[in-house]
Amino acid sequence: MLAALLALAVGLQTTGRLEFSSYLRPLPEMGEAYQRGFRSDAMVRINQVRDSIQVDEVRGDEPLQSFLNSFIDSKEQPASLELNEVFDAIQEEFPGAQYLAANLVTSNDRESLLNELAGWSAATNDDFDTINTAVFQTGRQAGVIGVMSRRIPAFSLRAANSRGGRFFNKCPHCDEVHALEIEKESRTLILSCPHCELPFDVLASDTSGRIRRATDFFEGFSLNEHPITQYQLTSEQRILALWREVAERCEYQRDQDHVSETREVWKGPRETWADKAGDCEDTSILLADALISAGFDARVAIGWNGNVGQHAWVVVQTSDRQYVMESTLQGEITEGCLKDVTVASAFYKPEQLFDRERMYFTTARPQDFNNDYFSPKVWRHIPVASGPAATPANGAKLSLR
Ligand SMILES: [Zn+2]
Repeated sequence: MLAALLALAVGLQTTGRLEFSSYLRPLPEMGEAYQRGFRSDAMVRINQVRDSIQVDEVRGDEPLQSFLNSFIDSKEQPASLELNEVFDAIQEEFPGAQYLAANLVTSNDRESLLNELAGWSAATNDDFDTINTAVFQTGRQAGVIGVMSRRIPAFSLRAANSRGGRFFNKCPHCDEVHALEIEKESRTLILSCPHCELPFDVLASDTSGRIRRATDFFEGFSLNEHPITQYQLTSEQRILALWREVAERCEYQRDQDHVSETREVWKGPRETWADKAGDCEDTSILLADALISAGFDARVAIGWNGNVGQHAWVVVQTSDRQYVMESTLQGEITEGCLKDVTVASAFYKPEQLFDRERMYFTTARPQDFNNDYFSPKVWRHIPVASGPAATPANGAKLSLR
């Protein structure tokens, strides 16, 4: 743009028909050094205003700055850019840029561009912690796009545990980027995408207060089966024998009875076994882990029970049947306790399932998924995210504040 304008001016000059002094100021060379100097001056002025009202200073965001420069360079007429276009481009490149404000100002002098930016309402807003600017030539004037932003980190269990807070996450189902907030003191969390509404993670605090993924509570816990009976018994008899061992040892105990706060914490199988007590998800994980170790296909279901509300239970599959196992059952475990899923479906409404490796969700109709906990057509496993949004999806967007 600048080169073209200078060439035009030179061409005109040779005609001798125009008075340059009336409008042609020496145009600044808006190279890298100029851009850096401008941003630095803008930052100083904005920080003076922020200091005066005790708002934390802003700094530059170098990757965002160089993206902004090349974005503006690629536009023939930056002055006619829609700000939404700027937002979309930035958010596609930086999915964690959750707080964004942009301002486009044109003027014929640098000083008033700086003043405009310093007087901008977003400049003093403490939602933002960086300022970046890109100056461009527009006709005989200069223009600037100022971008105030704050980036939030990609969600990870490690970050959620170390400090909690706001994160962005790319949905493994629909690839949309969204923000989520995790408190360090969280209890059981079933995380769902606000765009497609599908669950993408099930997290829970363990007894030490660490947030873990549901699948990570499995430990490969096993119970001894009699080596001979293992071959003489039917699958149902073996399942019942394992269940009896768990039920005889572990007393049903709600979290409220043993944790000072009334918060939902999960225990691993060894911990439940050692405590000889646990609530529905503790004994379900223990029982499912023992069944899997014994070679059965078993899952923990989280969902709704008509009698108790939010609940967890176990489901196990033999060669031809599926059974719901109520792991909180006390007293003698008899054949009648092993309920076929089709019989149990009146009371048990599963929402998510998990085993040692995977979490499963469904979009099927209840009459289908209530009667079948293992069909891959009905229960799909949640895809594992391919790294924390290293490559943002096309069109990945966050809602603007
Ligand atoms: Zn989604």
